[in-house]
Amino acid sequence: MRLVFLGMPGVGKGTQAKQLSHELHILQVSTGDMLRAAISKGEANGKEAKSCVESGRLVPDELVIRIVKARLLEEDMKNGFILDGFPRTDAQADALSQMGESGQLDRVLSFEMDEEMLVSRLSGRRTCSKCEEIYHQIHRAPKQEMICDLCGGALIQRKDDHSDTVLERLRVYKKETMPLIAYYESRGLLSHIDANGTFDAVSQRVMAVVGANLRK
Ligand code: AMP
Repeated sequence: MRLVFLGMPGVGKGTQAKQLSHELHILQVSTGDMLRAAISKGEANGKEAKSCVESGRLVPDELVIRIVKARLLEEDMKNGFILDGFPRTDAQADALSQMGESGQLDRVLSFEMDEEMLVSRLSGRRTCSKCEEIYHQIHRAPKQEMICDLCGGALIQRKDDHSDTVLERLRVYKKETMPLIAYYESRGLLSHIDANGTFDAVSQRVMAVVGANLRK
C-alpha cells in the first residue's frame, strides 16, 4: 500500500503515520525526520537544508525530490510506504508521479483541523532529542519533566516549533501545499480526515479509509 499523508504542521499526521505503519507492516517516510537527521549528522544535504528547516521555509524541491527518490528505491520499500510530509509542492507531486511504481499511489489522506488549535499544539510540543517521540506540555506530558518516557532522552522544543516559526510554517503550507488537495482530489485519490479529537478517534477514521482501500 502506497499512501501520502497531507496536513498542516501539528495536525498529528506523523503520529498517525507511525501507528498505521506498524499495523500495515510498511515504513513511514518522513522528509522532516530525514532532513533533521542529515542536519544533525552534518551531511551535505543537511548543510544545504539547515537554514530553511530552522526558519520554517521549504527546502528546495530538487533536494527533497532527490532524497525521496533514492529512499523509495531501497529494498525495504517494496511492500509500500506512508509518505509523511512529502510532496509539499506541485513540482514534488509531479516528480513523485514520475517515480515509476513508487509514484502509483493508493490513497492520499488530508488531515484537517482548526488553525488556532494547531498553533497551540505546536507551541506546546516537545520532541525527544534521541528517538523523536512527540510530547505536549499539556496534552501529553512525560512522566518526568523534559525526559522521554521511552528512551530517557532529553526533550527539546524544536527550533521550528517556536511561535514565530510556527506561523511561517502555516503560511507556507497554505500557499505551497494546500493546492495539492485539489491536485489529488481531481485524480480521485483524496480522502479528507477530520483530525480533531483524541488520537484513537482520529486513528479510527484513518482505518476506515485505509480499510476500504485494502478491500478493493
Ligand atoms: P516537518 O517535520 O514535516 O514539519 O518538516 C520540517 C521542515 O523540513 C519543514 O518546515 C521544511 O523546512 C522541511 N521539509 C520537510 N519536508 C519537506 C518537503 N517535502 N519539501 C520541502 N521542505 C520540507
